[in-house]
Amino acid sequence: MKAVSILCRHFLAALALWSLTAPAQADVLVDNIEGIRLDDEGKVDRFTGLWIDDGGHILQVLHRGDKRPQGTTYRTDGRGRIVIPGMIDAHAHVMDLGFAQLELDLSDTTSLADALTRIGAFAAAHPDRPWILGRGWNQEKWGLGRFPTAAELDQAVGDRPVLLDRVDGHAIWANSAAMEQAGITPSTKDPVGGRIERVAGSRKPAGVFVDAAMPLVRQAVPQPRPLDYDIALGEAQKLLLANGITAVADMGTDVPAWQAFRRAGDEGHLNVRIMAYAAGLDALETIAGPRPTPWLYGDKLRAGGIKLYLDGALGSRGAWLTADYADDPGNRGLPLLNPAQLRNLMSRASMDGFQVAIHAIGDAANREALLAIEELAQTYTGDRRWRIEHAQIVAPGDIPAFGRDGIIASMQPTHQTSDRLMAEARLGPDRLQGAYAWKSLADAGATLAFGSDAPVEAPDPFAGWAAAISRQDARGEPFGGWMPQERVSREAAFAAFTADAAYAGFAEGRFGRLARGERADFIVIDRDPMLASPDQLGQTKVLETWVSGEKVYSSTAQPSAGGR
Ligand SMILES: [Zn+2]
Repeated sequence: MKAVSILCRHFLAALALWSLTAPAQADVLVDNIEGIRLDDEGKVDRFTGLWIDDGGHILQVLHRGDKRPQGTTYRTDGRGRIVIPGMIDAHAHVMDLGFAQLELDLSDTTSLADALTRIGAFAAAHPDRPWILGRGWNQEKWGLGRFPTAAELDQAVGDRPVLLDRVDGHAIWANSAAMEQAGITPSTKDPVGGRIERVAGSRKPAGVFVDAAMPLVRQAVPQPRPLDYDIALGEAQKLLLANGITAVADMGTDVPAWQAFRRAGDEGHLNVRIMAYAAGLDALETIAGPRPTPWLYGDKLRAGGIKLYLDGALGSRGAWLTADYADDPGNRGLPLLNPAQLRNLMSRASMDGFQVAIHAIGDAANREALLAIEELAQTYTGDRRWRIEHAQIVAPGDIPAFGRDGIIASMQPTHQTSDRLMAEARLGPDRLQGAYAWKSLADAGATLAFGSDAPVEAPDPFAGWAAAISRQDARGEPFGGWMPQERVSREAAFAAFTADAAYAGFAEGRFGRLARGERADFIVIDRDPMLASPDQLGQTKVLETWVSGEKVYSSTAQPSAGGR
């Protein structure tokens, strides 16, 4: 009897929830909007209404003068506001983004002293945390001219381990307590593909660990529990939806992350669509098994590919270059996979129908990725959509190869604006010709898919869109744009953040265009992105976010979630 009444109560609660989300249970007409989308040819199509079925698919895109459906349809008045397709982030790290929301964010610190003050205050505010974790530091932005040290960090926090990721995720800064817990001593050797910074003139670790050396300290951090993953995933989704992102490619999904995605899907909490690229072969085999998973939970989740790291990043001089770093003679960075390893991994994934996404930043890494794709494409024919992630520095002579084998250049426009001065220092003026070369790669025939690389950059597609058309940062620097010949058109950038980002994840026809038969994923924004100046475009505010015809974010309902 008791069990029945509990069941009943659950049922009534479920029923109440249903009625709150009534729009998803009946046809919906979103009318009186200023809709903007791209047609099949990439041209702007303006529309005034969306008719959505009870499964959240678009029945009809209505233009001015089209007859509106009558009868049982639930009608909602857009009050003339601007509506565009939900934005797609083609390269982000969902769990890192979520966990970053729970950690100390140093990305807006202006000096080492500023950072140390903030670290000390954060530790004092969280006395219960056995480890202090954070991210976002950038010694370049501090004007330090060198890496910070453990000794400096010890001044801020000496009683507990502290571990702080560099902004690009390719170096980590530890205090003495963290190094002690990790068992790091002067005799600890640099691993292949990594570097331990040493105190000048000694073997004593100085506190910063680069690329493959990072796990040496990170392994000492207690593993987050499944519940921590669920909390972090919730935070990540909130932030993505508040930024107008309705779908994301998760670049490097590990098993606990996948399990968190599945739990969210099972429980009906997955609102952002996730195209998962497994973090290496072991993760791929555990997550997906012998073939890509089907689309799960109504096109919300799919594991369809593998993410491979061929090199590191420019900031930490881990990117693999064809010639020495201009500001570090004798160093060309490091390949993280040898040619046989790379081809073997690509082959293992391709043979089972998985898509391959290769992280390549330096020109040597991009050349090697292109060569490997060319070889593998002979065996693994058909529609493979080989992805090169970042493609930041490409030797001009290699650019045409991006037009072959249906390659997708998965790039992050805000990296260009953030990295400009650093890239000039690392490469020198003569080797920048193929740097962040969006237009040249597109002209060569590559499909551009744009993203943020969050949490490396904020998951803000409007900042990315503005950078893509201006080659200027949020302050309008540099005047006229950096290498302005590599700007892309407003429409091309729009496509790269929507339809082409969907295509890059084999999701075309499901979402990305606001076309008939697709999922009704759209956002309401406060200005017309086709008319706004780049500066204005970059400051676009997302008012509402809808996924499958359901409103999942409103700026008025959750004022705190939008503030980043
Ligand atoms: Zn990334």
